[in-house]
Amino acid sequence: MKDCIFCKIVRNEIPSYTIYEDDVVKAFLDISQGTPGHTLVIPKKHIANIFEYDPELAAQVFSRIPKIARAIKASNPDIKGMNIVNNNGQIAYQSVFHSHFHLVPRYTTHDDFAMIFKDNSNKYSPDDLKKIQTNIIDHIGD
Ligand code: 5GP
Ligand code: ZN
Repeated sequence: MKDCIFCKIVRNEIPSYTIYEDDVVKAFLDISQGTPGHTLVIPKKHIANIFEYDPELAAQVFSRIPKIARAIKASNPDIKGMNIVNNNGQIAYQSVFHSHFHLVPRYTTHDDFAMIFKDNSNKYSPDDLKKIQTNIIDHIGD
């Protein structure tokens, strides 16, 4: 896509600190470096978000992530873990609308990355959960 910043990175029209690329994906350092080594893995084909993947592209992209993650982890003995984050839609904090996966190495409990998973389990009855389950199941395959 002509004006997409990540397509421009794929075409090397914008420089990037690329750590891996092949015919399907490009992985490069996120300019923000949320933590040292923060990397983005993107499909070279422009798709906006997770909802636009076909099974073949999903398999190709996801299958490459573990080896990239392992290389990042191996690059620094201080890396103790990694968050892999994929934002889809503005409401979900997506700011570049070319699908990408953040690989965020984690160093300590007080490094510069945090996620909050609230525990709302006391607000849901078994019946509520059953309704949510059924509703989603009804749309698998759409
Ligand atoms: P999002 O907010 O869409 O999940 O993540 C987009 C990411 O792209 C941000 O973390 C931002 O730092 C990164 N980013 C935006 N523009 C550039 C750029 O030109 N080069 C690189 N390497 N990263 C970028
Ligand atoms: Zn693009």
